[in-house]
Amino acid sequence: MTERKNQFALELTLELIDEAAMLQFGNRIAVAISRGLKNMPENDYPATASASALLIALQGDLGAGKTTLSRGVLTGLGHTGAVKSPTYTLVEPYELLMGQVCHFDFYRLQDPEELEYMGFRDYLVESRLCLIEWPERGAGFLPEADILIEIVQLDEGRKVTISGQSEQAKIIISQLDRETNGVTSAD
Ligand code: ADP
Ligand code: MG
Repeated sequence: MTERKNQFALELTLELIDEAAMLQFGNRIAVAISRGLKNMPENDYPATASASALLIALQGDLGAGKTTLSRGVLTGLGHTGAVKSPTYTLVEPYELLMGQVCHFDFYRLQDPEELEYMGFRDYLVESRLCLIEWPERGAGFLPEADILIEIVQLDEGRKVTISGQSEQAKIIISQLDRETNGVTSAD
């Protein structure tokens, strides 16, 4: 596993060799979210009526591993059972210990305006976490994500870059950094 830290934005890059590594990294993100949220100032979390969910955008080509990584996050947050790709339904909501978590896939959006009809803003207010595949197809209606995860296919495995600039992102990514280092050094 390799890692690179950007001096300005908080950024981590990892190479994940197979599906199992992808799922495990998703689990680590879940741990970082759970731990990170506990460290947030009282007023930032839990979400108040005006606050919105933590937004994680997942970018990468078809087959990059966005759904796989989302599955790792969801199971890491306590979901048991299947994780369906929301390609056709646009959204799959989950009721987890932390509250509502929504998994979106905007691949089939014809127009970002469809987000208005599906009540996307309500999901943002009512959920604690939103995972969004193909966020670029919701451009204009989607607020800027707290955390961006970019997945690139390599000859073998995937390169995953996680970055973010919001306060929440900083807490979670540095938590993830510690978690990843902790796991790596213990290996
Ligand atoms: P997406 O949602 O981006 O279209 P999927 O999550 O459905 O992609 O994954 C597509 C394929 O990539 C699956 O067969 C999955 O097992 C495989 N895959 C996921 N992560 C990795 C990885 N790190 N290395 C190799 N294959 C992976
Ligand atoms: Mg997918």
